[in-house]
Amino acid sequence: MYMTKPKIVVLGAGYAGMMTTKKLMQKLSPEEAEIVLVNKHNYHYQTTWLHEVAAGTVNQNQARMMISDVINPSRVNLIYDEVVEVKKDDNRVVLKNSEVTYDYLVISLGFETNTFGIKGMEKNAFSITDIDSSRMIREHIEYQFAKYSTAANPKDEDLTILVGGGGFTGIEFVGELAEKVPELCKKYDIDRSKVRVINVEAAPRILPGFDDDLVAYAKKSLSDRGIEFREGAKISECKKNSFVIGEGDDTEEIKAGTIVWTGGVTGNSVLSKSGFELTKGKVTVNGDLRAPGEENIFILGDCAWVMNEAEGKPFPPTAQAAMQHADTCADNIKALLRHEPLSKFVFDDKGTVASLGETDAMGTVFNDNKLYGKAAVSMKKVIDNRYLFLLGGPKLILKKGKLRMF
Ligand code: FAD
Ligand code: NAD
Repeated sequence: MYMTKPKIVVLGAGYAGMMTTKKLMQKLSPEEAEIVLVNKHNYHYQTTWLHEVAAGTVNQNQARMMISDVINPSRVNLIYDEVVEVKKDDNRVVLKNSEVTYDYLVISLGFETNTFGIKGMEKNAFSITDIDSSRMIREHIEYQFAKYSTAANPKDEDLTILVGGGGFTGIEFVGELAEKVPELCKKYDIDRSKVRVINVEAAPRILPGFDDDLVAYAKKSLSDRGIEFREGAKISECKKNSFVIGEGDDTEEIKAGTIVWTGGVTGNSVLSKSGFELTKGKVTVNGDLRAPGEENIFILGDCAWVMNEAEGKPFPPTAQAAMQHADTCADNIKALLRHEPLSKFVFDDKGTVASLGETDAMGTVFNDNKLYGKAAVSMKKVIDNRYLFLLGGPKLILKKGKLRMF
């Protein structure tokens, strides 16, 4: 028996952390447990919109909201601080400025960019990781345009934007650039043909593993709007103003004024600092989403390595999965508090839709039905608005939603 209320601490207010907190508030009475949510900032942002913030097609304030506007601070203790390490053996979390103890812990600290040790990448390339890193990209691109238009001897290569990695993030980002670049050209009176946006992908084609027809559609849509692709082109080095492609004697250098790395992600480094056993930077969780050997620690979202037993590989880290983890986790914490059996996480794959700028998209929904163009654009907006609805009801959709369909 607890003398005081058991304390549930949720680390990270992203998709998984926000939805877990919301669900715990709904499923538990205030007398049953104390809930604490720890996040680096006092705002929650939609990671799935960061490529738009980076291109400047969505303002950063639309992509974020104050946590206290959607989580009632009189019900949940909100701590704005950076998590440094989890001390599992004494149920304690070290924060940058203080510390917090727990009875149950939820780790949902999201992803970090993975540069795979590519020489110069961390130092010389931007990455789309959070609001501030994305805002820096937008500002840097605009600065390159302003510099070009005022320079006595402007260099065309300053207007080149290199995007390393043609996964979903890289492709969605160049999709936004396809729409932003003409706008910037108009604003700074620069000929569109001077600006190059080049996506560089190591695999034989962009979006490796994704449906051939949808990839062909995406490529055509983006090529028609001036995006260039270099496929089968492995980046071996990132210099201050260039990518080096290939190795040994067979290398090529492409120069640019803006370089963005979208070549991969891994779990938050707090996991390794805290001594969890890792698979590619993430914790391979048990079926009930707890860390192996830990009775009271759940790992969710991009920090969790959740195996797809049927296909013998992990499920990709997505917001869709993170939100579903939150459901199972909240149910299982309730079950632990009430001494009931825990349930197993079952992923309900609703499909994948990728934007190609504001006006085009493609993807699969419900049982691999393919969607292209306006139907896919509408579906993507429905998905985004549904999340806002789950988080803050119709009021939040009106405040932050994507309401303009075409
Ligand atoms: P996040 O949502 O990233 O949240 C992590 C939170 O932890 C953040 O609030 C962060 O500030 C906080 N945090 C991190 N470190 C610390 C620390 N040390 N201390 C305190 N707080 C910390 N998935 C889809 O399903 N559909 C999409 O369309 C889609 N689009 C995407 C577009 C882009 C550009 C990117 C990058 C990803 C996209 N994804 C998409 C993937 C999806 O965004 C992630 O899988 C999802 O955000 C994971 O949720 P999470 O809760 O684990 O982490
Ligand atoms: P990713 O790992 O999916 O893609 C990275 C790409 O970079 C790969 O295609 C890889 O081959 C390439 N790459 C790696 N090293 C390279 C090198 N040296 N040179 C050139 N190319 C190289 O990463 P991501 O795109 O950031 O996506 C991360 C996760 O987020 C994925 O699970 C994805 O499904 C999810 N996501 C989903 C959506 C969506 O559903 N619309 C959008 C964005 C991201």
